[in-house]
Amino acid sequence: MADSVTFSFELFPPRTPAGVDKLPEVIARLAHVRPSFFSVTYGAGGSEQDGTYGTVMRVAQQTGIEAAPHLTCIGSTRTHIAELLQRYRDSGIRRIVALRGDLPATSMSSEAPGELRYANELVSFIREQHGDHFALEVAAYPEVHPQALSPAADFAAFQRKVEAGASGAVTQYFYNADAYFDFAERCARARIGIPLIAGIMPITNHAQLIRFSAACGADIPRWIRLRLEQYQDDKASLQDFGLEVVARLCRTLLDGGAPGLHFYTLNQAEPTLRLWQHLGLPMPI
Ligand code: FAD
Repeated sequence: MADSVTFSFELFPPRTPAGVDKLPEVIARLAHVRPSFFSVTYGAGGSEQDGTYGTVMRVAQQTGIEAAPHLTCIGSTRTHIAELLQRYRDSGIRRIVALRGDLPATSMSSEAPGELRYANELVSFIREQHGDHFALEVAAYPEVHPQALSPAADFAAFQRKVEAGASGAVTQYFYNADAYFDFAERCARARIGIPLIAGIMPITNHAQLIRFSAACGADIPRWIRLRLEQYQDDKASLQDFGLEVVARLCRTLLDGGAPGLHFYTLNQAEPTLRLWQHLGLPMPI
């Protein structure tokens, strides 16, 4: 594995008092293994938005490790996005995950889609306003974004984000390493040279995984789905099986040259740290 491989951890702004109370310990446990950076999600269309800034600042102040806010453009205005960017810049932020976002299911279909319609327009806007100040990560979909007109149109959309100035990409999670390697090959053929960091979703909860995957278009291979169904009432076996499957995926990706892994922690330290240990990654004492 190359020394330059990055390991990053994604958090979301806690939504409940219990989640708020628990977060400092989650951050401390994850920070102990010194990830390359943390990122914090941002709810398109209103939810979680203030929480993103607060969580990013908490991570940076508590750990001294880089913290990157996610920023979405759907349903927003240039003025609002410009204000947020300035606030982040003034607070010392140097990396942003730039996304279109999805409107919450509860939003009205007549709601304005926003002044910037797609993530490539957001990347262009940030570059216009702030030049190279921010490193910009964009999303990539090895298994194709669920709303894409076609795989080719989706790849062209990804290319536009790169041309607009993305510095790197983080993929949607997947359990089929070939989808990642196929996407990486297509990038190489298109002379796209930015790092393609693989998004990793630990497997800990059957119902939640099925729900998330249906929403974001991630494929759960039949053999994994059936094994998870079998372990539904046996949490320990399900988690052990999930650990084996995801650790093998991580090893295959790293052995195949993936430049980084981005763990969707869902604000749980344990599943990511178990994977970390299983992979034999450095664990400070
Ligand atoms: P885009 O790259 O703009 O693509 C969106 C869709 O539009 C694709 O189907 C694409 O093919 C299509 N498209 C692009 N350009 C055009 C065009 N000109 N004409 C027609 N079609 C076009 N969501 C959140 O709300 N908050 C988060 O914090 C968040 N974090 C994420 C982090 C990662 C790493 C990933 C992978 C996803 C995250 N998401 C988040 C989900 C993401 O916002 C959704 O997947 C969203 O639907 C697409 O965002 P995007 O930036 O990929 O959009």
